[in-house]
Amino acid sequence: MKRSIIILCLAVWSLGTITACSNGPKATEKHQKKSKYTCTMHPDLSFDKPGVCSKCGMELVERDTTE
Ligand SMILES: [Zn+2]
Repeated sequence: MKRSIIILCLAVWSLGTITACSNGPKATEKHQKKSKYTCTMHPDLSFDKPGVCSKCGMELVERDTTE
């Protein structure tokens, strides 16, 4: 009997995880304005505006800074 409860809990938990994941992209869209730009070769560098890396001249990519 306990096992079925555990399975039910797992099912609810995975449903919640899937829901959270499907909500992810929307949240990311909102945060895109705040995201900074970084160089793929120099992840420690961050820039407020798009452009090229000051070290290697590579094109900057957007970085999600929600975490
Ligand atoms: Zn670079």
